Amino acid sequence: MATSPVSPSRRRQARATAAPHFPDPHHDHGRCASDALDRAASLCESRRERLTAIRRRVLEIVWRGHEPVGAYAILEAMQRELGKVVAPPTVYRALDFLQAQGLVHRVESLNAYVGCHDPETPHSVQFMICRSCKTAVELHDRAIADAIAAAAGAAGFTPAESVVELSGLCGRCARSHGGSPAPG
Ligand SMILES: [Zn+2]
Ligand SMILES: [Zn+2]
Ligand SMILES: [Zn+2]
Repeated sequence: MATSPVSPSRRRQARATAAPHFPDPHHDHGRCASDALDRAASLCESRRERLTAIRRRVLEIVWRGHEPVGAYAILEAMQRELGKVVAPPTVYRALDFLQAQGLVHRVESLNAYVGCHDPETPHSVQFMICRSCKTAVELHDRAIADAIAAAAGAAGFTPAESVVELSGLCGRCARSHGGSPAPG
């Protein structure tokens, strides 16, 4: 949007192995997405699962950005591109598959899906979701998952599913909402 003084990137990291961070709006998202698609293909191959054309298409649509996307929006995008009616169960089945393989996560509070950066490793996930730019970033914090499991266990509760989603503002949006330019 508006031109902002972009400082030379201090750290360049290909993968989000470091602390979770919100993606820079100027990052090379094309590479992000193609990397995710490549990894999905090799992951499915190693698991002897089929990344069919439909599944791949749905994954591509999910990876158009870092904002979670709803099933209906995916359906519409597919219909627009294919120029024909796509049955909703087709999209839902593809999403079920992608979710089961850890390639996408469902963001419950938005009823939407977002691509995972680390599908090779099964993990519990917590989300930070920016209300303003809609970006969702995952945390993989074992300590959070362990603390929840311990607290539930102490109550004699057996959780089947755990959803931890934080809604708020990312640093960039918080700064622009606050109106303080705060250079550097
Ligand atoms: Zn990206
Ligand atoms: Zn993930
Ligand atoms: Zn934001």
